[in-house]
Amino acid sequence: MGEQIYRYHSLVVITRTDERVLGYARYTDGVDRAELARALDLPRPTVVSSVGRLMTQGRLVAVDGERGRAARGRGRHLVRVSGAAALLGLLAWRHGRLTASLYDVRRERLIGIDRDPPDPRSGAEGLMEVVDALVRAAATIPGSALDTVVVSVPAPFLRGMGAPREHSSLPGLPRGFHVTNAEDFDTRLADRFDLTVITENNANLAALGEQYARPDRIDNVIYLMIGDDGIGSAVVANGRLARGAHGYGGELAHLQLDRNGPLCHCGGRGCLWMAVRDLSLPYSETAGTDPVDLTGLTRLSDAHDPGAHRLLADIGRMLGRPLGHLSTFLDPEAIIVDATLGEAVDHIIRGIAESLAVEAPPVIARNVRLERSTLGDTAEVRGAFEIVREAVRRG
Ligand SMILES: [Zn+2]
Repeated sequence: MGEQIYRYHSLVVITRTDERVLGYARYTDGVDRAELARALDLPRPTVVSSVGRLMTQGRLVAVDGERGRAARGRGRHLVRVSGAAALLGLLAWRHGRLTASLYDVRRERLIGIDRDPPDPRSGAEGLMEVVDALVRAAATIPGSALDTVVVSVPAPFLRGMGAPREHSSLPGLPRGFHVTNAEDFDTRLADRFDLTVITENNANLAALGEQYARPDRIDNVIYLMIGDDGIGSAVVANGRLARGAHGYGGELAHLQLDRNGPLCHCGGRGCLWMAVRDLSLPYSETAGTDPVDLTGLTRLSDAHDPGAHRLLADIGRMLGRPLGHLSTFLDPEAIIVDATLGEAVDHIIRGIAESLAVEAPPVIARNVRLERSTLGDTAEVRGAFEIVREAVRRG
């Protein structure tokens, strides 16, 4: 009993508001009270007293140096979390590779580790080596601490539930889900490395990045990611990611286009992503060449090949139909298309626009902004920083 009382007196009382302020400030290199009030949706006086309390306790400190002076010149006072600066780790599957990166709070990439992707059936175990390498790399950066790793998976994934268990193993099927082991990565990796691990679908992360990167934050977005790895997509509705009950929320890839189409690794038939992937097959079979993949099409498109332009626009038209239906349901402000394919994506966007014009009511087709992302690969990185703040933003 006596010990409990002793502990009570030695505790520094920290309110939920203080926790949220610290949680937000942790992944910035300096933030002012106005931004904190806006981001956390708190009254300014509440933020002012919380920051005052946290500065007295030494948990927040004023930003010194040029940035701090420049901010004060404009009547702002930047604060940051005291002690070691936060690093953020990001594991991402892109273009057939697995990369592990370390970012500082300015979202600058300090270290990149490139690996062959692990066997998709190995689950969290297959990621242990690369996370270990990331932790070791972080230890070499003075004055910094890695406490959170975001795992950006190119598959439907729901935290606490894992990737869908149900997928077909029939021989000859195209390889799909890069993460097929249904388990809670977050707990397995967090326990091994004493880190916070947040696993999220890659398109969901990129959509969050797009949402927050704009000065006029948009709260209703359909995001589309197209690559040789497949089609990723995400929906942000009323400012929140629509993850669904099984992680399939916002997934366009497995919408059925043709009920008699080829079997997909999801166990369904004629899925959208397979139709997109196979679009160039009849041509390559006739020509007796290897199938042209999206990277090949992009290369030809960049060389002004009219056939490649046509096929890319056809891909857009194919995607435009379900996007038209989805837009009619959701009434988004924008459909944002990932542009890591470069200028070739403009042909896809042209095709989507043509389909939308006939597949959606005029009021939707006219008002939805169809945009090429200006963020590239950084949308996913921006989203990783936002996902670690998701809980503090919500209050
Ligand atoms: Zn499928």
